[in-house]
Amino acid sequence: MNVEEIIKKASVVARVRAAEEVVWENPGVRPFEEVKGTLPLSAADIDDAEARLARFAPFIAKKFPETAPLHGIIESPLTEIGGMKSFLNDSFGADITGRLLLKQDSHLAVSGSVKARGGIYEVLKHTEDLALENGLLHGDYTVFDSDASREFFGKYAIHVGSTGNLGLSIGIMGAAVGYRTTVHMSSDAKAWKKKLLRERGVTVVEYDSDYSLAVQEGRKLAAEDPFSYFVDDENSTALFLGYAVAARRLKKQLAEKGIVVDASHPLFAYLPCGVGGAPGGIAFGLKHEFGDHVFCFFVEPTQAPCMLLGMATGLHNEICVQDVGLTGRTEADGLAVGRPSKFVGKTVEKLVSGVLTVSDEKLYDYLRGLLDSENIFIEPSACAAFQGAVKLRQASGFLASNGLTGERLAAAGHIVWATGGSMVPEEEREIARTK
Ligand SMILES: *Cc1c(COP(=O)(O)O)cnc(C)c1O
Repeated sequence: MNVEEIIKKASVVARVRAAEEVVWENPGVRPFEEVKGTLPLSAADIDDAEARLARFAPFIAKKFPETAPLHGIIESPLTEIGGMKSFLNDSFGADITGRLLLKQDSHLAVSGSVKARGGIYEVLKHTEDLALENGLLHGDYTVFDSDASREFFGKYAIHVGSTGNLGLSIGIMGAAVGYRTTVHMSSDAKAWKKKLLRERGVTVVEYDSDYSLAVQEGRKLAAEDPFSYFVDDENSTALFLGYAVAARRLKKQLAEKGIVVDASHPLFAYLPCGVGGAPGGIAFGLKHEFGDHVFCFFVEPTQAPCMLLGMATGLHNEICVQDVGLTGRTEADGLAVGRPSKFVGKTVEKLVSGVLTVSDEKLYDYLRGLLDSENIFIEPSACAAFQGAVKLRQASGFLASNGLTGERLAAAGHIVWATGGSMVPEEEREIARTK
């Protein structure tokens, strides 16, 4: 299909191809109760994932002492950022009303990004499966912190394709269990992420190409070895469910802060999107917790808006950003994905209210703004989420048709999902600050 035909399917593509910042309102979104029963995964699957993470908590608490205060549950703070709200309103005319909150997955224990949810969960699930098959597990999960266990898992390998953060999560938890771990990295991956992984004993294979090829190669190598397991970022339900658990825990955090979510107090969530798993899983979880009172928006770089293209055209993984003449190159390494996940796109196409794009330049404005106003550093990819809060007013059709005006909008909560940053080295922070 040529670009003109694609534009006929979805007129927004005319502006997307010009690398303009866009606000796309999803015409396919439906009431949650109508959609729920048609989805490939359910609330019971989220329960199962949550319970598995709880079973592993004693092991995690032992192995990663920084998780001991939360008893081995890897969870991040939810922080009100009033200073940043003023900054965005003053500098970008954002007109944000209600409360602006930062979900600091940037500060998740173990691997410092949202991937500490999905990635770590998938490694643990695979570990439990293997342990049960081989009769290693008798109730006490701290057994995984034994030499005998590490020796057993040393026979097994894990491969993953990653733009960086997924590799960090899988690599760190893989090494903790004892796996031989290989991370296949795209050219966008930051040098410090490769270095950190190698220091942890992870094998890093570099590809002079984008993410999709790194994934393809990893998948191929893993398939050749029966003791090998491939973490498939494009199709993994385990990753997706690991992310989905976030929403349950967020519900408790909101309640603790006295933040009500109901018909008169809508909640907006702005989620940086790469291949789709993290924002998709979180949105899926949020819809299960809050139904039609929550409105989820994804944000992608102007040069790598793969999920927008996939959903707006309905072509999902049959379209990539290069098909419309974009490069796929961006400073937001966590979002540098050219082709979206079909599994995620199909699962969330009736749940997500819209997708926005943001220029790389803007990411650094938000990064500095957050640092100056709140003294919080997050990585450029994570800053994409602010675009949602800043441009929400432009989604005027969406706001009007959902009655999101006046008092109702004034009573809203806005969650900017900060997906990474606490592991960024000081030198890199300095570079980011001055970009
Ligand atoms: C991976 C990542 C995302 C997006 O997750 P996907 O599952 O690729 O959509 C967002 N922000 C950061 C920092 C990431 O590392």
